[in-house]
Amino acid sequence: MESLDCPSCNEKIEVTWKQYWRSGLGYYHCPHCKDKSKFQTKPRWVQFSSWALQFFALMACYASFTTFGFLGSVSLLILIPVFLFDKHLDTKFGNLVTAT
Ligand SMILES: [Zn+2]
Repeated sequence: MESLDCPSCNEKIEVTWKQYWRSGLGYYHCPHCKDKSKFQTKPRWVQFSSWALQFFALMACYASFTTFGFLGSVSLLILIPVFLFDKHLDTKFGNLVTAT
């Protein structure tokens, strides 16, 4: 299970896909104490590599759409491992701090 520690109650917060998408807005809600905590981003080089990877994946999808038309939509599948990887980086390098 991939998880982050809640800064308020020190319980582990499981990083579900729902939490992951919401963390795009910068906040996690602890299921144990209901406190809101702020996701502190990964080290900058990790964040930028991940963004670069997402950017190239999107470009590859776009290129394949324009080349193969509808068939090119299959290339969207490469976004799955890209987001899985990014989610993994969130739990590996990110941490939560109490929201002010
Ligand atoms: Zn908590």
